[in-house]
Amino acid sequence: MDETLDIQAVLEAAIAEGRQVLYEGNVADYIPELAKAAPGSLGGCLIKPDGTVYAAGDYDIPFTMQSISKTFSLILALQTAGFNRVFSKVGMEPTGDRFDSILQLELKDWHPFNPMINAGAIVVSSCIRAKDPFDEFLKLVRKLCANDSISMNERVYYSEKQSGTRNRAIAYILMNDHILDGEWEDVEDILDLYFRMCSVMVTAKDLAHYAMVLANDGIDPTTGEQIVTPDIVRVVKTLMLLCGMYDESGEYAVKVGLPSKSGVGGGICAVAPNGMGIGVFGPKLNKKGNSVGGEKVIQYLSSHLGLHMLSDGKPYKSIAF
Ligand code: GLU
Repeated sequence: MDETLDIQAVLEAAIAEGRQVLYEGNVADYIPELAKAAPGSLGGCLIKPDGTVYAAGDYDIPFTMQSISKTFSLILALQTAGFNRVFSKVGMEPTGDRFDSILQLELKDWHPFNPMINAGAIVVSSCIRAKDPFDEFLKLVRKLCANDSISMNERVYYSEKQSGTRNRAIAYILMNDHILDGEWEDVEDILDLYFRMCSVMVTAKDLAHYAMVLANDGIDPTTGEQIVTPDIVRVVKTLMLLCGMYDESGEYAVKVGLPSKSGVGGGICAVAPNGMGIGVFGPKLNKKGNSVGGEKVIQYLSSHLGLHMLSDGKPYKSIAF
């Protein structure tokens, strides 16, 4: 990346650009508590490996991470159960279906296609080996985001637990087909863990720090600590690139070219090739369930800072806009 670029100015321009498309999206309401988010919010944060923080807009508003939790739970499952065990239960293939689809479990394969869709994440949750899996999850999130005050939003958790009939249906199909792992007594306990993980609150700044650690092969460059092994980081980033943006992952990879993960709470984290981490938040979602403003912000950053992982590191004007 060109070091003379004014990153703060580019980020502010990206947020202004993102605001232009907010009218195209809607706040998620299938989990009733999510519908209460302020629809006009949009913010972003970018952290360089030397710890320099660039932030603009609503970068410090907490929101529930929802599907972004799927990347943390995958790390925890790989750390505690190992690669072979986890991937004997879930695949590594992108799917063109919706994130909460049941279709492929019946029609194509009993094993979920990948850990970034709901069915896959429920299986991954069942693989986590820990006495108190949620406590271990929270510890990992706090460490990777460098924020000890991260906690769960009880109202969102109850709201999702009450309304999550589709996830419940998925979990029961997986149980019926003997795909779930571990010593769980009740499938409801696995669902409870999944709902809790989705309901953990972060800010765009927290996500930027997390993405920066992933961008540095699992080392937090601000402390020097290796939090996750490079092998696990490589697996997680590859799956983020292939499947992290639901059934929009291919188009997003063409336009943005950064391993990323979104959630229906409106967050996206994106891992830049030069060791930078990006986090954005905007609760208005497009039809695929991705933050409409957030995607625009990251797309703008990628082209103006030259971050596309398959480009030469120079700013580019995308033919895909
Ligand atoms: N908790 C949400 C669900 O399971 C997460 C979905 C998402 O962010 O994609 O429906």
